[in-house]
Amino acid sequence: MNEYPSAFLNRMQAMLGAEYTDFLECMEQPSIRGIRLNPVKCDEKKLKNGLDFNIELSPFSPYSYQIPEAAGKPGGIPLHHAGAFYSQEPSAASAVTILNPQPGEKILDLCAAPGGKSTQIAALLNGKGLLWSNEVVRSRATVLLSNMERMGVSNAVISSCHPETLCEKLAGYFDRILVDAPCSGEGMFRRDAQAVQDWSEEHVKTCAVRQGLILDSAAHALKENGILVYSTCTFSSEENEDTVKAFLERHPNFVLEDSGVSFGRPGIEMPQARRIFPMDGGDGHFVAKMRKISPTVCYVTDYPFTKFAAEHDVKALYDQIFQVPIKGFFIQSGSSILIAPQLTPALSGLGVIRAGVMLGEILKGRIEPAHALFLASLPQELRQIVDFSSHSAEIRAYLHGEELEVDSARKGYTGVAVDGVVAGFGKCSSGRLKNRYPKGLRSHI
Ligand code: SAM
Repeated sequence: MNEYPSAFLNRMQAMLGAEYTDFLECMEQPSIRGIRLNPVKCDEKKLKNGLDFNIELSPFSPYSYQIPEAAGKPGGIPLHHAGAFYSQEPSAASAVTILNPQPGEKILDLCAAPGGKSTQIAALLNGKGLLWSNEVVRSRATVLLSNMERMGVSNAVISSCHPETLCEKLAGYFDRILVDAPCSGEGMFRRDAQAVQDWSEEHVKTCAVRQGLILDSAAHALKENGILVYSTCTFSSEENEDTVKAFLERHPNFVLEDSGVSFGRPGIEMPQARRIFPMDGGDGHFVAKMRKISPTVCYVTDYPFTKFAAEHDVKALYDQIFQVPIKGFFIQSGSSILIAPQLTPALSGLGVIRAGVMLGEILKGRIEPAHALFLASLPQELRQIVDFSSHSAEIRAYLHGEELEVDSARKGYTGVAVDGVVAGFGKCSSGRLKNRYPKGLRSHI
């Protein structure tokens, strides 16, 4: 029997009654493992071909699959390097399924690192609209950025800002907001020993107070008729239904809406919300969907796009690499050149660490293209591409950082794909592809 705090078990027994024995049995089983397809870059057929284990579609999202307990670590698979999928326990996809983002909308993910839900939202937006992914802890925001880059997200702003500041400055701006709140993590106990260690009744109370404050901030940033989804990965009612009830009491301009899904089970005395217990085939999750019904005023202005000195050279480099028009605007930030989304608002004072896709860096008067630029590209958009099978020695060699032999007619920057999914790039000359796969990401297997 795993060692769970007795106060936690007592609370679960009081909550579950006759189902408590089933709960205990499930808590002895390993947590379900899963991956989520990135439909922007890959499809199910290619994904299955690139894996050396079977996958089974889960009920929690049309792109989430259960993988066998014995499957090796998916992180070393070439398609993972290429951003074709994200490792995520399937029931963790439930909050974004309920959020139901629509292409073209403006979405805020307020507590976003490491990016499981942000990358899922981005996939559903399919490059249309704007995703603002915020993570207050700066070191965690860096991990968020690297996951968003790997998944090829092109229409996101990534920030590390306090929710109160961010939501005041972006008041009335968003169509949908996800608050996947920091919580006591009871739903993660099966696979996170630290969450078990950190648990106490006091911690549950502290989390509930913090959750209320984050929700209060989020309320400002939503437009009239906008959707606010609140989710946690914990079982305690204090952090779930009670937090939602207290929020609705403080904000009569919000109403609960039905979650619109059939997986899991209704919330406790809150049929519109959704709970997932291990007995429902997942870890532990709670999701509630609310709508703002009051009129809002939004003072957010557009990003002041202006011409800059290097723009001509940037355009020339872009045209050298791509055979399709740019989707967005070039902007310069220090020595970085970015392709910012069409909808980018004014960004100052919001802790922004990335707007759109990094095109490259100005180094000694020339522009060096960025790895992220290629990850955010489809093969048909690039002028030059070399494509290797998932099972080939060449793609392994590329991901190790080795030079590759290529057709001697190839010259200049060339995308490198695995089964048609762009994983990076290199520079071709004299029949060799010089490897530009970033050193820190290279595969060691
Ligand atoms: N949505 C993420 C995902 O799917 O990958 C997981 C988010 S995690 C449950 C909650 C996040 O909230 C953590 O990254 C944590 O650093 C952040 N956080 C902690 N304190 C916070 C606060 N006071 N306001 C906003 N976010 C906070």
